[in-house]
This record gives sequence, C-alpha cells and structure tokens, in this order.
Amino acid sequence: MKKLALHWKIIIGMVLGIIWALISSSMGWSEFTINWIDPFGTIFINLLKLIAVPLVLFSIIGGVANIGDPSSLGRMGGKTLGIYLLTTVSAIALGLLLVNVISPGKLIDEESRVDNRISYEIWADAEGYEIKDGINYLKDPKFFKRAQEISELSKNELQNAAVADKMKAVKSKKETSPLQPLVDIVPSNFFYSLSNNGLMLQIIFFAVFFGVCLLFISKDKSQPVLNLVDGINEVFLKMVDLVMQAAPFFVFALLAGVVSKMAGNDIGKVVEIFKGLSWYSLTVLIGLLLMIFVIYPLVLKMFVRKIPYSGFFKSMSPAQTLAFSTSSSAATLPVTMECVEQNLGVNKKISSFVLPIGATVNMDGTSLYQAVAVIFLAQMHMIDLTIGQQVTVVLTATLASIGSAAVPSAGLVMLIIVLSSVGLNPAWIAIIFPVDRILDMFRTVVNVTGDATVCSIIADGENMLDYIDPENPTETFDLDS
Ligand code: ASP
Repeated sequence: MKKLALHWKIIIGMVLGIIWALISSSMGWSEFTINWIDPFGTIFINLLKLIAVPLVLFSIIGGVANIGDPSSLGRMGGKTLGIYLLTTVSAIALGLLLVNVISPGKLIDEESRVDNRISYEIWADAEGYEIKDGINYLKDPKFFKRAQEISELSKNELQNAAVADKMKAVKSKKETSPLQPLVDIVPSNFFYSLSNNGLMLQIIFFAVFFGVCLLFISKDKSQPVLNLVDGINEVFLKMVDLVMQAAPFFVFALLAGVVSKMAGNDIGKVVEIFKGLSWYSLTVLIGLLLMIFVIYPLVLKMFVRKIPYSGFFKSMSPAQTLAFSTSSSAATLPVTMECVEQNLGVNKKISSFVLPIGATVNMDGTSLYQAVAVIFLAQMHMIDLTIGQQVTVVLTATLASIGSAAVPSAGLVMLIIVLSSVGLNPAWIAIIFPVDRILDMFRTVVNVTGDATVCSIIADGENMLDYIDPENPTETFDLDS
C-alpha cells in the first residue's frame, strides 16, 4: 500500500482533534481534554520552538559564510528585504480594498453602531482627541442619558484583564525613542537573546555579523568552524524529522485543546461567537485565501516559471498544515526549510538565509488581517477613516507585522499600535479577540507561504533553484520546455 503523505496524516489528526473537542464539549468532558490532552499540544510547540532558535542561528551563519563574498551577500540581503516589503504592502492594499468594498462593520445594526459611536466619543473625550468628522453625539441632548449608561459600561469593558495586560506591555514599549526598534535589534548580551523567543531579530543580527566575519578570516581558521556549524545544522534537521513523525498525534492534541478552550462545555458558544463576527471573519478569510491560492501562484508564474501551481502546493503542504495547526511561523520554520530545500529544490545557501529572516519580518497574512481589523472596527463605530488615515494604516501595519513575533496571537497584540496610530481605542481588540485564534491559523499559513514564494523568487534570480517535478523525479520540470 502506498504510504500516506505526512500532510494528509496531519490533516486527519486535525480533523480528529476537532471531532474529539466537539464530542467532549457536548459530553461535558472539556476539563478532561484541557487537563490531559491539550498539554501534548503545548509540548509539540515547545519542541518545535526549541529547534527553531538554534536552527536560525546556525543556518544563517552557515548560509552567510557559504555565500562566499560580502558583495553578493549585500545584494541578496537588499533584494530579500525589498521583496519582503513589497509583498507586505501588497497584502495590506488587498486587505484595505476588500474591507472597503465589503464593509463588514457597516452590516451591524444601526442602533448598536450608534451606541458604539457614543462609547468611542466618551473614550476620545477622556483621551483628549477631537472628534473631527461631523457627528458628535455627546453634544446632542437626545443621547445624553444613553451616553451616561454607556460610560459606566465602557469602564468595565476597559478593565477587561485579558486586554489590559496586552495594552500595558505595548504602552511600555512605545514610551521610548523613535529609533528604539533599531536599538532593539542589537543585543548587548547574546545569551540573553538566545533565552527569549521574542528576540529572534537579535539572533539574526548576531548570526549575520558572525557569518560575515567568518568570511574575513583565513580559510584554515574558518573552515573548521564552518564544518562544525554544518554538522550542528544536520543534527537539528534530524530532530525536526523525528518530531514530525509524531506530528499527527501532537496536532490532534493541539486542535482538541484549542477548540475545547473556545467551546467549554457548550458548543453553541462557538457558533454564537462566529455569528456576531461572521462578516469580519469572512472578509479576512477571503483576503487570506486569495493570497494563498491566487496572488502567490500568480507571482510564481510570473517570476519562477519552473514551479507549477499544483507542484508548489504539493511541496509546501507539510509546512502549510503545520502552520495552520500551530499558528506559529517560528515553530513551523524548520519544516518550511525542509520543504523549500527538498521539495522546491531551492539551494540551501539561499533558503538558510532568506527563510529565517522571512519568518521573523515577513508576515503578509498578519498585515492583511491588521488592515481589515482596523477598518472593520472603525466602521462598526461609525467612523470613516480618511485616505490619509488609511495610508497611516499601511505604514503602521507594515511596521507592526515586522515587529510581530512569529508566535500565536502576536498579530493581535501589535494591532494595538495600528489602532492607536489612527486615534482609535486600542481596547477594541477585545471585540475581535474571540475569533482571533482561528483567523491566526489561516494568517500563519499565508505568512509561511509568502516566505516560501519570496525564497523561490530569489533562488531563481540567483540561479539556485532546481525544481524537480515530484511525479517525474528524474527530469527538471520546466514550463518553457
Ligand atoms: N501567528 C502568526 C505567525 O506566527 C503571527 C500572528 O499574526 O499572530 O506567523
């Protein structure tokens, strides 16, 4: 019998996990699932993250040193960052287009929107913002009583602990100089960076610096270091192989836990949560699916003709299914690297440099979602953002997606910055919080697919892509031939 491909096993694990969660919630066993099954999901993510940090370090050192000369490294680095930036901005533009056309926030009933608007005005008043766009309900005696009621309500809302914590963390970050993000990239103690998964950019900085310096010392000194780095890399890749053997089981536990936490002992709750936010979720999903199934394949068709549509998905599906189940591009990185190297045929010299950087700074799915979320939240509070404000959203969503860590819910936290940049209430992340984990799964797939697409483009440009058709492994598949 033909062996079932890994991504199919992972998909089966996911489906079984969801079915288990639904059964366990209707039988009142959610606590059992959360206590006894969910921890295996956490172990899985921990294992993947454990591998990701040293893999980023050693693969970038190896990647940089193997490129051979500093000028081609500079050229490739510039190209990588440039294309990553371009894809991020395009994703935001697509998100803005969809949310302005579908207008999910305007589909909510008028009365709630007026209430929302009043609560926004109360907040803006307290923060010292001026209401510019005409309607000012607080000045209208007709709405006075309602404003008082809402004021009481929104006080409670703001005390919502889950959100308050996140806001505090972002606020403490913001109260520093404008160059702080640059300062944050340079570590003062490298071992501290290694011990914190949120400091991936510092690890990348160190690895590039180390790799470049290896190029400048004599070969007899650098070669043993490089051999060691290559050997260590092999060990980590073996670890990925082993962990992935058990992935279907781990993914079952992960999904069972995620869904049980959402549903508790009442499945109806999940349906209710989604109903209220269905148009918003749908808009985000349309954007993300367009990126995966239309935009990236089109870009590949234009720039990397060697990789056919179905071949790309076949090659990338293990990484995509893993991204979906873990909601973390950092945890998925080891598998993304394997897929891109072994299935798409990208030379290791390129992938080991381009992919770790991409996992950290290139998040097209996250940025698209942030654009949709901000405009949706504004619409449901009866606020029309001007073109100028939407351009600000493009800028801040780009920066926020670069700054988002590649872990679950990071995009939601960074949304606080995007909301604040256009004078909206950052506490609104509480509104979309209930559906965020599910959308996070889809946007992480986009993030990972985007990295692989850009990596293929760069490899092709450097003549370092040797795609082999999986159906026809002896020949190189070329659309031109
Ligand atoms: N979970 C996403 C990732 O790891 C980031 C986010 O959008 O929250 O790529």
